[in-house]
Amino acid sequence: MGTRFTGIAASDGVAIAPAFVLSTSAQAVEERRGVPIGPEIERLEVALRAAKGELESLRETADVKLGAEHAQIFTAHIQILEDPEFAGAIRGMIEGEEVNAEFALNQVAKQLIALFEQMDNEYMRQRAADIKDVSQRLLAKLQGSSQSSLADIQEPVVLVANDLAPSDTIQLDASLVRAFVTDIGGRTSHSAIMARSLGIPAVVGLGEITANVQAGQLIAVDGAAGLVVVDPDPEEQASFSSRAAGEAEAKARLLALKDEPSQTLDGRRVELAGNIGTPADVAAVLANGGEGVGLFRSEFLYMNRQDAPSEEEQFAAYREVAERMGGKPVIVRTLDVGGDKEIPYLDLPKEANPFLGYRAIRVCLDRTELFNTQLRAILRASHYGKLRIMFPMISTVTEIRQAKARVEAVKAELRAAGTPFDENIEIGIMIEIPAAAVAADLLAKEVDFFSIGTNDLVQYTMACDRMNERISHLYQPLHPSVLRLIKMVIDGAHRHGKWVGMCGELAGELSAVPVLLGLGLDEFSMSAGSILKVRERIRGLRMDEAQTLAAEVLQLDSQEDVLKKVQTWA
Ligand code: PEP
Ligand code: MG
Repeated sequence: MGTRFTGIAASDGVAIAPAFVLSTSAQAVEERRGVPIGPEIERLEVALRAAKGELESLRETADVKLGAEHAQIFTAHIQILEDPEFAGAIRGMIEGEEVNAEFALNQVAKQLIALFEQMDNEYMRQRAADIKDVSQRLLAKLQGSSQSSLADIQEPVVLVANDLAPSDTIQLDASLVRAFVTDIGGRTSHSAIMARSLGIPAVVGLGEITANVQAGQLIAVDGAAGLVVVDPDPEEQASFSSRAAGEAEAKARLLALKDEPSQTLDGRRVELAGNIGTPADVAAVLANGGEGVGLFRSEFLYMNRQDAPSEEEQFAAYREVAERMGGKPVIVRTLDVGGDKEIPYLDLPKEANPFLGYRAIRVCLDRTELFNTQLRAILRASHYGKLRIMFPMISTVTEIRQAKARVEAVKAELRAAGTPFDENIEIGIMIEIPAAAVAADLLAKEVDFFSIGTNDLVQYTMACDRMNERISHLYQPLHPSVLRLIKMVIDGAHRHGKWVGMCGELAGELSAVPVLLGLGLDEFSMSAGSILKVRERIRGLRMDEAQTLAAEVLQLDSQEDVLKKVQTWA
């Protein structure tokens, strides 16, 4: 058996290839005193300019490959380069102590890194990695060496490194770097996030993997399990190779469907869209052939910060998504706060039953400025693509009318100011409360579309808190009661010529797809990674058969029987 190492599972996938060990050791930095100050400062300035140029081109690459969210890292690096605490401090030390630039850089970087590493806040600790990355780049420029030898990779490898800086990760060629494994790093470090976006399997935080691997040694990686096997025996090699080949084959088969229509054998066409939380998620939706964004959970823009995002910030985010989707529809759900989603600065009251309390549209209708700011940002961004507005947690017709009145008021303001927006922007609601499902035919008259939020609809229908482990056996998305409600929603909307989507997790469940299709669902929105699997399933179905199946399962009396039926159904 090979030697096994377990680390943090950072990015899924299986790979097996010879090791390429990335050397991080720049030449040793020597201390020279009494150097002439002028020329030394000049050397530093030249190196700073060169490093900045490199970062600008990395930012460009990241923007094209992964989107503005990731490119942002390199903007942060440029800011470090230009920060008086960094470049200024290095200059100060050269002038004050007449030391060489490399030594001054090393000293300043060490101090700053130690300062950030001590901080309580995880986000600030991550900044230490950024300072290290920037310092190494600058040092390489001063020493006239090329910082990394990633360019030397010419054949398939597993990359082994102490740590991978974001600037290394963005340069990886996914066709050659089959996986990467590192000594340090966490699941939320930039390089782990990028690995997931690039689809490269990765295990990080392995401790001492670089010390235990020689260049060229065979390495097997299971990204989902966080497992690395060095020198796998023939049996392990065969197992990893066949799993990697199986994954590659399945990936290729699914990717071939990227631009194919989501259409049944007998011609029923539906739309398959992706759920996103930030603009960065758009890349994965497009890479997986998403035909739109069926749910942009805008609350993510409000999280992990001290105060609400400004209109400009929100406008930039919605516009970026609209533009990158290139005319494909994007449903922006207005702020869905409350329940399990806490945003401390909004000061929402502690409640005995938060899921039945002051949340989502209930908060927005109450907090005029918060809601108006968001509506203004969405409407302004609607000029740059095809945006739709969706209100969460609607229980009554009155709420829809009030929310629409707000939209109309904001539109009037924008019109008066001559600000362009899409006059015909579609407005829809989430159906996630049984009251709305039962009255769907009445609500349908008020809106352009529905999207069924099964995550909440199941919890309210079954009176089963979606977070409560003890009663999780009652959380049954395929219970006939839930399916009957879904049917009421779809029928109620269709009666008024409106379309119905679904953005709860059920939409991406392969076993549920034939039933939902048979019930007449028009759009399915899910996490990007499920889109192609669902498309493959739909392209193998017939609408008439799916309708028969749907009618049958509605007559069963338990989720267990529904599951049995759908799993044995061809
Ligand atoms: C849902 O309730 O199904 C839904 C999509 O919304 P969230 O999971 O964000 O509550
Ligand atoms: Mg919900």
